[in-house]
Amino acid sequence: MTSLDDLPIRDDLRGRTPYGAPQLAVPVRLNTNENSYPVPEPVVEAIAKAVTAELRDLNRYPDRDALALRADLAGYLGHGLDAAHVWAANGSNEVQQQLLQVFGGPGRTALGFTPAYSMHPLLALGTGTGWWDGRRTADFDLTAADAAAQVREHRPDVVILCSPNNPTGTALHPEVISAVLAEAPGMVLVDEAYAEFARPGTPSALTLLPGHPRLVVTRTMSKAFGFAGGRLGYLAADPAVVDAVQLVRLPYHLSALTQAAARAALAHRDALLATVQAIKAQRDRIVDELRRRGHTVADSDANFVLFRTGGDQRAAWQALLDRGVLVRDVGLAGWLRVTAGTEQETDAFLAAMEVVDP
Ligand code: PMP
Repeated sequence: MTSLDDLPIRDDLRGRTPYGAPQLAVPVRLNTNENSYPVPEPVVEAIAKAVTAELRDLNRYPDRDALALRADLAGYLGHGLDAAHVWAANGSNEVQQQLLQVFGGPGRTALGFTPAYSMHPLLALGTGTGWWDGRRTADFDLTAADAAAQVREHRPDVVILCSPNNPTGTALHPEVISAVLAEAPGMVLVDEAYAEFARPGTPSALTLLPGHPRLVVTRTMSKAFGFAGGRLGYLAADPAVVDAVQLVRLPYHLSALTQAAARAALAHRDALLATVQAIKAQRDRIVDELRRRGHTVADSDANFVLFRTGGDQRAAWQALLDRGVLVRDVGLAGWLRVTAGTEQETDAFLAAMEVVDP
């Protein structure tokens, strides 16, 4: 039998394992920051109708530029943006991969501030981009001065910021983004996958786009919109950035079915985004209750919460799983991450947490 090791793969990929959170069939799945609420029936019907209308034309390639969808996404974002400022792909992972293909690549580097989204260094690896593991303080803070100093030290071609940050949950202070923009010699990417869940008074980096042609903000429909299975991520930036990613995107990368489904979902955004308030309420309930029980908990602007467990987080993860609750071990010693879902899921999580010492 041939194994991976027998194949002539790139040396820098040898010995690596693919990214992937466990997909286990347990009653309470709170490990991938999905939206726990199923798509409401009227939206299911609208998406089915929109997708059905495309079926007869599947002999033809889709709109390569996805212009109608990009116009709809720009309309959702506001901030004076139009289709020329927006680009879409199969999840924000693909958008970020395209950005690293065009602005990173062999001989170039990207800088992120760990712990942050674990796909960022993997996307760098896959695109042959060197990776600088930037620092945060022990309590995961990142100040404007420290971020700027690290950019000055490494002079990366791409800086990747994540706000609200996964896995900590906390949004960056806008001063951090401004300081990085002032210092960065290349592109600055702000991953805002969880923007819709931010606490009041947390401005989006979209407000900084005018006058900053090297700033890119990525968003996704996987979280607040409850559209993770639909695979739709997008970016907002100067139109020149949209021209740039078209140099590396595959032709017809976004299927006609995806474009139609995403447009129907966006047309029903009020129904889909109605879950955001309920999820934020569960998020705040988890933070408050765990703190009341004596756990250290990071502030959260997202649909998940990072909390400290008394001992080894792997034992705590297993104890929760034994009680039917799947959370995420993000590899931070002593910490676990839980997604905020429905009230019943929070009940089950908090009940299971009775066995986990603070
Ligand atoms: N950015 C962050 C910070 C994420 O947590 C995720 C998903 N876990 C993504 C991007 C990618 O999401 P998608 O590809 O589904 O848009």
